[in-house]
Parts: sequence; structure tokens; C-alpha cells
Amino acid sequence: MATVLVVEDEQALALLLKYNLEKEGYDVLIESRGNKVLGVVEKNCPSLILLDWMLPELSGVEICKLIRSKPDLKNIPIIMLTAKGQEEDKVKGLNAGADDYVTKPFSVPELMARVRTNMRRAPEILPIKELNYEDIRIDLVQKKVFRGENYIHLGPTEFRLLKILIENPGQVFSREYLLKTVWGNNIYVESRTIDVHIRRLRKALNEFGADYIRTVRATGYSIDKNEIDQ
Ligand code: CA
Repeated sequence: MATVLVVEDEQALALLLKYNLEKEGYDVLIESRGNKVLGVVEKNCPSLILLDWMLPELSGVEICKLIRSKPDLKNIPIIMLTAKGQEEDKVKGLNAGADDYVTKPFSVPELMARVRTNMRRAPEILPIKELNYEDIRIDLVQKKVFRGENYIHLGPTEFRLLKILIENPGQVFSREYLLKTVWGNNIYVESRTIDVHIRRLRKALNEFGADYIRTVRATGYSIDKNEIDQ
């Protein structure tokens, strides 16, 4: 059965959507906090997301961009829900990667029709089962990391850091971005904490091969075997 994730902080509206979506035969998940959405999407891989624009912590546009930047999530259809009707906002929403855009207040039957259309349009979503960089392999099903044939034991934070780096090889991620993505917005963590976890990640990985994690002075980190400059 297809699952629809409703991201909406107005509880009455979220429940109205849930009621109507369930009547259409969908399983429904509700999330109201912007900074929790990515985690929920990663865990449940919904067939479609109804995404409110104005949310606490992280806006719908930011969430949309974040989801689109993940190779294993980028094909999930997203319908943005917004009180903003201006053409400019619509363009912004669609540029961020939304497939469709519905202005509040909307008619429920019309929204349900849009859900059906976008669901049908969605290509078959084959979840990515593993990510690779050179001899490093992340098994996303078992949540395990290997280097060659060797199993690498990583803590959950190191696992998430490695996954972000390997999803975008060569891209330098700032400490701030990594903090926001790995720990979320509402937790205060000193930016040097990242360095501690990167050190642990390096130590674990390098036991079985060369160091591919690149430190970019005063900027952040990437995984890039050709640009090691330390
Ligand atoms: Ca809202």
C-alpha cells in the first residue's frame, strides 16, 4: 500500500488530510517539525509527500532541496502546500524540486486528484541498496560499512557522516551543514564536535586502506581521494 507523508504543523489540517487520504486507501504519516522530516523520509520512504511551506525549524523549500539532494530519495513526488499564492513563490517552490503546488485554501477533492496524478506519474522507486566510493561500501539495507571485504564498525553518527560524504563525492560540506543534517537544528553541538567524529570515522576506515577524507582548512570536509591536502 502506498504511504503518503503529510508534513503540516497545523494539526487540524493535518488530520483532515489524513482522514481523506486514508479514505482513498493510502497509509498516512504525519510530521509537524521541519527538522524531523528528512529522518522520517529516510526511514519510511513514502510514495508521496505533501509538504507545507511554512514550518517551524526548517521551511518546506529547504526540506524539498534537502530531499532532492539525496540520490535515494530524489524521485519521491512532492506536492507543496502553501498559503502564499504569488507567482514568485510558486516558482521558488518548483525550483526547489517540488512536482506540484497547491495554494491554501484548497478543495479536498482537488487535492486528492493531484495526489493520484502525481502518484501515477512517479517512476517506480527502486530504493538504493548500497553506496560506494572506491573500496568503501555502505550497505543501506543492513546499515553496515565495508572496506573491501572488511567490516568497519561505526557508531551511528560516523555512519551518517560517511553517508552524507559518499552521496556527494568531491563536494565539500561545511561543519555547520553537517551539524544541521546529522544532529538537527534544535540541538546545540559545538562545531568542533564534528572534528571528533570525523577523526573516529577516519580511524575506523583507515585501518583497511588509504585516507580518502579530505579536510578543507577553515571550511569543512569531503570524500575525495584525488584532493587530499593534509
Ligand atoms: Ca504551516
